[in-house]
Amino acid sequence: MQQRRRSPQRTCVVCREVAAKRTLMRLVRTPEGTVVLDPRGKASGRGAYLCGSEECFTSKRAREAVARALQVSLGEDEWSALTDQLRELASERSSSAVGKDE
Ligand SMILES: [Zn+2]
Repeated sequence: MQQRRRSPQRTCVVCREVAAKRTLMRLVRTPEGTVVLDPRGKASGRGAYLCGSEECFTSKRAREAVARALQVSLGEDEWSALTDQLRELASERSSSAVGKDE
């Protein structure tokens, strides 16, 4: 067991930026072929990682990159629902990173 290794790194499927896995947001493809947000990064299935920059979860390019990475077709409606969830998660994370009062 190598517990002391560096934290795992993943690549944002949109901008290709490499970052620590836990700082990225994960989308996962369900067995039904839909795409859901996986806030804890624990769900099984094919996943795609997105960094926290707005461009990477709001743009049309982002939708295409995610669809390609997960090998699904993502409709406008499905993507906009995911975008809302991603935006929420991103802002939750950035506010908890800023507001460290402990
Ligand atoms: Zn990105």
